[in-house]
Amino acid sequence: MINAIGYAAKHSYSRLKPLEFERDEAGPSQVEIEVLYCGVCHSDIHQVKNEWSNTVYPCMPGHEVVGRVSRTGADVTAHAVGDVVGVGCMIDSCRHCEPCEAGDENYCEGPNSWLATYNGPMVSAKKAPDGHNMYGRDNTYGGYSSVIVVDQDFVLKIPATLRPEVAAPILCAGVTTYSPMKHWGVKAGDRVGVIGFGGLGDMAAKLAKAMGAEVTVFTTSKDKRDEAARLGVQVVMENDEDALKSLKSSFDFMLSTIPEKHDVNPFVALLKRDRTLVVVGALEPLAPINNQAVAFSRKSVGGSLIGSIADTQEVLDFCAEHGIGPDIEVIPIQQINDAYQQVEDGDVRFRYVIDMASLQAEHAS
Ligand SMILES: [Zn+2]
Ligand SMILES: [Zn+2]
Repeated sequence: MINAIGYAAKHSYSRLKPLEFERDEAGPSQVEIEVLYCGVCHSDIHQVKNEWSNTVYPCMPGHEVVGRVSRTGADVTAHAVGDVVGVGCMIDSCRHCEPCEAGDENYCEGPNSWLATYNGPMVSAKKAPDGHNMYGRDNTYGGYSSVIVVDQDFVLKIPATLRPEVAAPILCAGVTTYSPMKHWGVKAGDRVGVIGFGGLGDMAAKLAKAMGAEVTVFTTSKDKRDEAARLGVQVVMENDEDALKSLKSSFDFMLSTIPEKHDVNPFVALLKRDRTLVVVGALEPLAPINNQAVAFSRKSVGGSLIGSIADTQEVLDFCAEHGIGPDIEVIPIQQINDAYQQVEDGDVRFRYVIDMASLQAEHAS
């Protein structure tokens, strides 16, 4: 066993606090990683507060993990001690279902779906029909911790030209926005609308621009409008009805990054015929969609969930090649509860990234 320390919540109403725990040592195909940085994703907050009604406590979040390989199992060939590597939202999948065989692990249809980096498996052993699940554990602890052990196939290579703290949010926010743009074929010259300008919206706008698209960001915040304008993209206030009217039927692709229930109808109107609006931010029922507007121009409203391991490596390499990355603010882990509050208040456009060296203060105390 490896002695580890991290920050976890014990209940839906409690703050994150230090928790000492043990991790299994790396098996033959696994990699032990000393965590250097971990991004703070909005879903960490949903999960800690049990807002999806599936949280297993204690809940130790963190699925934007960057660290240094400290040990490798005997069969590991893809990574070596000292490598800077990343771990995103998944640490395993069934590997045998059709999506897994097609390299779409994030849509695994195995009996327990994919194994989440934290709060996984999503079917707890106690609730599984035969009293255990295929992953053989009740819970997983994420990257708000000193060390993590992951199968080599789910470990990403961080390009040398990406700073590790900048790379961290690409592992979730980056791939979540990159994967649908790739799947729906966003290309140079397309008009792409990005709805919402938080951590996901920031990455979406930068990635689309680097792909050569003409990008418009839709926001409700005047501060965020100014920030988005600095990226050299067009910005429209969501409540500006004249502007929305003038943009009717003009977009090739739209991506909604708003992390809660919202109304996509005003944006469906902005799509060209046959084009798609994809929702990545919200994982709950949306406001009803008026199918008249959808059907009359054969439009689609779709969804997309994170991205495959191959897409994750691709977006890391794409960001390195184009010199782009999220805007981040590095914080010590002791500030995590305050950071959550700020994210919930909606006034954070950059991504918080935890400097895990700050955990050493917990060891000392
Ligand atoms: Zn995330
Ligand atoms: Zn599968």
